[in-house]
Amino acid sequence: MRLTHAEINLGNFKSNIKNIKALLEPQTKVCVAVKANGYGNGAVRCAKAAKEAGADFLAIAAVSEGIELRENGVDLPLLMLSLCCPEEIPDVIKYSITPLIFDKEVIKLYDRELEKIGAQLKFSVHMAVDTGMGRIGIRKEEAAEIARAIVNSKHLTLGGMCTHFAVSDSLTPEDVAYTEKQHDDFMTAIKNVEDAGINPGIRHCCNSPATLNHPEWQLDMVRPGIVVYGYYPDQITKEYLEKKGTPVEIKPVMTLVSGVCAIRHFSKGQSVSYGHTWTAEEDTDIAVIPCGYGDGFLRRFNEIVKPSINGKSYPIRGRICMDQFMIDIGHDNKDVKRWDKVILFGDKTCGAIVDAQDIADATNTIPYEIMTGISSRVERVYIE
Ligand SMILES: *Cc1c(COP(=O)(O)O)cnc(C)c1O
Repeated sequence: MRLTHAEINLGNFKSNIKNIKALLEPQTKVCVAVKANGYGNGAVRCAKAAKEAGADFLAIAAVSEGIELRENGVDLPLLMLSLCCPEEIPDVIKYSITPLIFDKEVIKLYDRELEKIGAQLKFSVHMAVDTGMGRIGIRKEEAAEIARAIVNSKHLTLGGMCTHFAVSDSLTPEDVAYTEKQHDDFMTAIKNVEDAGINPGIRHCCNSPATLNHPEWQLDMVRPGIVVYGYYPDQITKEYLEKKGTPVEIKPVMTLVSGVCAIRHFSKGQSVSYGHTWTAEEDTDIAVIPCGYGDGFLRRFNEIVKPSINGKSYPIRGRICMDQFMIDIGHDNKDVKRWDKVILFGDKTCGAIVDAQDIADATNTIPYEIMTGISSRVERVYIE
């Protein structure tokens, strides 16, 4: 195996799901988001571990992600959160993927395709309601009309209804009010559908922050993502939840590791990497680490990540290259040997100095982007 790889702790992943489930009523379904290759952690193994931990549904974004899961034996219901194009509809049906639908054009496309293949059973779709995310979904005023079009079609059935929050990870008074209005509007949309004599099916609205902060909004199903991979959503932090009296313990699933592939002596005045941005001010030893921005370990991490070797951290020197970077281990360091393991970021209880949240905070992004940015060249190694 290459020195650079991502350790994926499925034990942490499963305990994160179980700790979230502990907030919920036993009958509430859990739809674990495994889109974007399981937030970079590996979709197939995370999907299987999610099932073991009691997940009822899995959320994907693309048809190709659903095909990958099905071809690897994943049999849970798959909810597709993004729209696909008409050419992909035959595969949505063939691989039993549940799409989100909110307009008559797409209802017709599905109905026609199901007619063409002579479908016997009704095909379940969920109706998306846009209550303020401004992405996909029907507005609450037209929810009953679209629900009617679904149930009146020849081959479709309304399996569920959902909405998605835009600012449920924020605690500013305006954002809290916005989220409450979104929830109210979703409840109105559900009532409009029920008043039209239509069963809304599985009702779901909670992403990670809403699941943690508003378990009273769990309805029939929740859709956590980031939290199952071990990160708290923005302002819904560990401390906030403790103070509120509903603590939830979660641990990072991904730890990015590498190794020392060479140790080289540098004399005072010799410089390191592109651009000569660092020059040795005294004699020292430089360890070469075979990981770079081609692995998703970005150039702008060099002031932030403090790689650790055998429990001690060392500074990155010079620019991070595409495939390698260098750290300063100091002259004649007996604690570092060639081929030693280097921990870059992840689970601090396993020796990481920073986690994806720390990197995200320092680079003006979110842990989602740090994890999904770890490229496909980095092998995912699973720890049960
Ligand atoms: C990605 C996504 C989720 C999960 O979001 P997290 O913030 O990771 O919990 C839930 N619902 C929808 C519609 C999504 O797109």
